[in-house]
Amino acid sequence: MNRFFRAISGFFLSERGQLAFAMLLLVLVPATLVLNSLIAIQSAQRNMTLELQRKSRLAERILQVTVKDFVGDAKKLQQVVVNVKNSDSEIWGVDVLTPTDATANTFTVVASTETKNVGQSVDANTAQKPVLDYNLKISWLQDQMIASTTFSSDASTVNQKFLPGDKNQRFWVVVSPLQNSSGVKTALVSLKLSSQIIDDNTQAAVTRAIGVLVASILIIVLLLAANTRLFQYTVLFRKLKEVDQMKDDFISVASHELRTPITGIRGYVSMVADGSLGPISPETKKALDVVAQSAERLNGLVEDLLNVSRIEQGRLDLELTQVDPLLVINEVITELMPMANDKHLEVAYKGPATLPTLSLNHDRFKQVMVNLVGNGIKYTPKGSVHIEVDQQPKNIRLKVSDTGLGMSPADMQRLFTKFYRIRNDGTKDIAGTGLGLWITKEIIERMKGTIEVESIEGTGSQFIVTFPLSKKA
Ligand code: ADP
Repeated sequence: MNRFFRAISGFFLSERGQLAFAMLLLVLVPATLVLNSLIAIQSAQRNMTLELQRKSRLAERILQVTVKDFVGDAKKLQQVVVNVKNSDSEIWGVDVLTPTDATANTFTVVASTETKNVGQSVDANTAQKPVLDYNLKISWLQDQMIASTTFSSDASTVNQKFLPGDKNQRFWVVVSPLQNSSGVKTALVSLKLSSQIIDDNTQAAVTRAIGVLVASILIIVLLLAANTRLFQYTVLFRKLKEVDQMKDDFISVASHELRTPITGIRGYVSMVADGSLGPISPETKKALDVVAQSAERLNGLVEDLLNVSRIEQGRLDLELTQVDPLLVINEVITELMPMANDKHLEVAYKGPATLPTLSLNHDRFKQVMVNLVGNGIKYTPKGSVHIEVDQQPKNIRLKVSDTGLGMSPADMQRLFTKFYRIRNDGTKDIAGTGLGLWITKEIIERMKGTIEVESIEGTGSQFIVTFPLSKKA
């Protein structure tokens, strides 16, 4: 079951799956909208038709009451019928008919809104449009009201001719027998009621619905297009992440593999250089010193790369203990003193004689201080590098300041990004990777500290590191 779900989700996450899904949506969503609109329109039309049918039946009943008393008087009846028609534009025609025999096969028009029809005979069985005319016979014989709908082109009942230019309009024809006051059937009343207004409204509603439908489909197509583009970005992003991972893996493996030969070179060079393997000439010593320096630089680079991959893969050892910062600062000064002496720089600690212990990782904190003080020495041609410390209520602030090259505000903006090195006349002969400050910042932040920089080009720089005081302290 699990495998089934994995296969399904795998398919949907694949490029082909996404495309198929988008195509499916492209068909399904508009189809659902069309179906929904069709159902809504149909139901609205059905309701309107029923309403019109009810209305025409009602009108027929009122008409019956109106003409009832005039059936015996042909002239008056004709007048009433014409008046009824003129009273409302929806009424298309009124006819009053009487059967010529008991079987109701033919009817005679006794009054009609089409005056020329008066006196004409209508064959209920053989008329051109039997459906309508046959209704006359059924209505009369079964004594019931019959309402049916037809179109103006079909409406030949009692030979009514429509005006030329009339559209093929729909209307209701309602026929019902008329009874006199003693309940005897005396005539048949036929009413034609136009459904023009309602049909026009329905048509307008349909047009509107189609407009909304087209707009909705357009929006959906646009959304799907955007979705497809978003998906492409997702695929691209995933690929980029894979490439990034490959790069990290490569750096990690390569730097690990480089470490062993570098250790070998450093060890043997130092053994040869210090005469452990036999006496060497001063020239050889000089050459070996250059080799040793190069090996040191290579080692620094490999260590930096290893640190980058450890940080990025979350493998940095960050076990915290209580660390006395002053001890570490003194260790760093001692280690870097030879480098400072080479350049005749003063390196000194300026701060309280004792400091509270901090919750830090000893080696990582030392690495931070080596990087900052080391940079101070590296980028200071003459003068000094000082380490100042001041204790605040909740923090301890360590300031590494130098009287070196300094940096412009523009240079400082990207200072803590990976591989960034400031390139100018002052730095062009100084070797480095551009990784030190990035590593420093990452380590500091992982130990809940912060780092800031202040600098004036040509005057010097200050790196200010803040760590929270341990709760115990
Ligand atoms: P690297 O020193 O290996 O080039 P870093 O990440 O340690 O890399 O430093 C990045 C850049 O910041 C350096 O190339 C240098 O231009 C500048 N920089 C760092 N520390 C100082 C400093 N104390 N004074 C002046 N410039 C500095």
